[in-house]
Amino acid sequence: MFADLHLHTNFSDGTYTPEELAGRAGELGLAAIALTDHDTVEGCARMSAACAHAGLEFIPASELTAEVDGNELHLLAYFVDTRNPRLLAQMGRFQRVRQSRIQEMVARLNQLDIPLQADAVLAIANCRSPGRPHVARALVMGGFCSSMDEAFERFLKKNRPAWVPKFKISAIEAIELIHQAGGLAVMAHPALNRADEIIAGLVRAGLDGLECFHTKHTPTTSEHYVGLAKELGLLITGGSDCHGLNKGKPLIGTVKLPYEYVEQLKGALARRKSNDRAPRSALRTSS
Ligand code: AMP
Ligand code: ZN
Ligand code: FE
Ligand code: FE
Repeated sequence: MFADLHLHTNFSDGTYTPEELAGRAGELGLAAIALTDHDTVEGCARMSAACAHAGLEFIPASELTAEVDGNELHLLAYFVDTRNPRLLAQMGRFQRVRQSRIQEMVARLNQLDIPLQADAVLAIANCRSPGRPHVARALVMGGFCSSMDEAFERFLKKNRPAWVPKFKISAIEAIELIHQAGGLAVMAHPALNRADEIIAGLVRAGLDGLECFHTKHTPTTSEHYVGLAKELGLLITGGSDCHGLNKGKPLIGTVKLPYEYVEQLKGALARRKSNDRAPRSALRTSS
């Protein structure tokens, strides 16, 4: 039994609908999937219904953009309550920032004599949590770039002319936000950060896990992060980070996380809940 715990739908920058992804997961024989759209949980209700229909276990989640010591990092928020008021308020703020960032990126492209319109990008995005991939798609559709890669390389990558930095919550605040919403905080694709020195501080802030298995991790980096997770007492997760097709094939299911890791996530949550319920006197050591 396997799971894929990192998937995006068209509620952020993925191309599949929740129903399409759940259908594919069913065809692949996955036991469980999580939806990790950027800065939103809006797709979770439909994904949950579609997973129930396909006989799959569903884990509500999101991927939050956070920051520590100037490094951008992505925190996966598993099992959060998708109606938690503080979580929803903070996500609303992230979404407004994303929308105005699209306007700024388009303004920069216009200064470079690329007559792209923000409305065209927002129409392609058609969601509350738009991002750079939507600008890249608009550049390709408008004939300004021949591929998404070219759009990122020429304009959208960090420090390229149309790149606009994004407001980021501190990782410490993000971990607290995830915890108060009843979730587990997991650092996404740590090999892409190449900054293992930040992990100890995240653990002190309450980090619960590391995404050891990811499309962009090699077998060596996966093994390295499994070792680190064990050393630090962290949970282990993994997923494909599917945004749709990759080289003509859907990426979902290409990273197969053994289901026992999902059980460990649920065990950790159950232990936290029972600790929260325990009367203070029961937690005190008798001395
Ligand atoms: P944003 O959240 O708007 O900063 O966009 C980040 C997203 O852009 C990531 O989650 C990836 O899906 C995508 N992305 C980042 N770099 C590239 C790239 N070089 N080519 C294609 N997609 C990319
Ligand atoms: Zn993305
Ligand atoms: Fe990410
Ligand atoms: Fe992702």
